[in-house]
Amino acid sequence: MSSSLAAAPRAAPAVADRSPALSPLVCRRCGARFDPLPVAVCEECVGPLEPAYAPDRRLPTRAEIEARPRSIWRYREWLPILGEPVLSLDTGFTPLLDSPPLARALGVRRALVKNDAVSHPTQSFKDRVVAVALNAAIGLGLDTVGCASTGNLANAVAAQAARAGLAAWIFVPEDLELAKIVGTAVYGPRLVRVRGTYDDVNRLCAQVADRFGWGLVNLNLRSYYGEGSKTMAFEIAEQLGWRLPDAVIAPMAGGSLLTKLDKGFHELSDAGLVAPGAPRMYGAQASGCAPIVNLVERGGDTIEPVIPRTIARSIAIGNPADGTFAARAIRGSGGAAAAVTDEELVEGIRLLAETTGVFTETAGGVTVAAARRLAREGKLRASDEVVLCITGNGLKTIDAVVPALPEAPVVSAKLREVAALVNA
Ligand SMILES: [Zn+2]
Repeated sequence: MSSSLAAAPRAAPAVADRSPALSPLVCRRCGARFDPLPVAVCEECVGPLEPAYAPDRRLPTRAEIEARPRSIWRYREWLPILGEPVLSLDTGFTPLLDSPPLARALGVRRALVKNDAVSHPTQSFKDRVVAVALNAAIGLGLDTVGCASTGNLANAVAAQAARAGLAAWIFVPEDLELAKIVGTAVYGPRLVRVRGTYDDVNRLCAQVADRFGWGLVNLNLRSYYGEGSKTMAFEIAEQLGWRLPDAVIAPMAGGSLLTKLDKGFHELSDAGLVAPGAPRMYGAQASGCAPIVNLVERGGDTIEPVIPRTIARSIAIGNPADGTFAARAIRGSGGAAAAVTDEELVEGIRLLAETTGVFTETAGGVTVAAARRLAREGKLRASDEVVLCITGNGLKTIDAVVPALPEAPVVSAKLREVAALVNA
């Protein structure tokens, strides 16, 4: 559509001749239906669009799901790609780790870590949503994709677009962590650093999508993209032996992950794959950017945007697009929300590493620290089985923890110098 405007050289998508069909879209607010389109907002009422799944479609049994490859696509009846996906077939099915030491530290019956710090291919849960969005892009005949990102999404779009032979334009705040810039640029996309906050980047990208006709995964492809997050809920239930935990805690940036986790648990229950019910949902934010926590605590239905001031940059979204939905999911499930300081989140990173052997980025530190606070306040109960959603890898944000770690001693290659350390 806009090939003359994109400067990046690009190969024709190798899979264009196998483009998957997509679900139609329906407006969450007014119910208007639309054919598949790279549009995420209802033209009638400006409400958000979401995929409309055929209510009479055949759903798989537990055994059928278990026999499929270990990826997000084993749950494809709940994803908006109809028939066989063609891109990013190997994303998903990350480990669910039982951590008795973490449970003891938190003061809950059982703590499990859903470890998307080892997600494939870019070490964050964004691989899930991008896998769905790129199949949607191909299905819509788009040859250029992109995103507005705080880092992890940039990594995921760049890597998966490179593999698919799609051109990618990626927009990030100018001051992003070096590891996230390098972990994007290496895949060869057009990477643009924007002066301003993520919210400025996001506003710009809404205009970019309109002007150039590209598929911006978290803007005009958002209706498809967001559904990928549900696979984390499906995996948690399956990995628990087709059972739901008492409580799930997740970090909140735009609020989409928590909203979609809640939706995923309900869909599994509605399908009869787990017993009726749903976990209590708990949301975590950094206190320097906590508009959704504020909404949960204040009540009402309107986000009051904030200017982010936190080292947890991957979740520093001051005007969260799905904030009201996330707050509603938390309240509706009987859960709660908590905000933690930058110091507490660094302690959270260390607690998870020392108890569970998982090195998470700042957002994961927020999740662990918020779980500790919620348990202390009695909002997570001592009898709870809690799943902590760890969404990103600590090697991307090492600057956050460097000041908190002891300096390693330097010795000569002499046994007596080591002996002195051992005996000290
Ligand atoms: Zn509408």
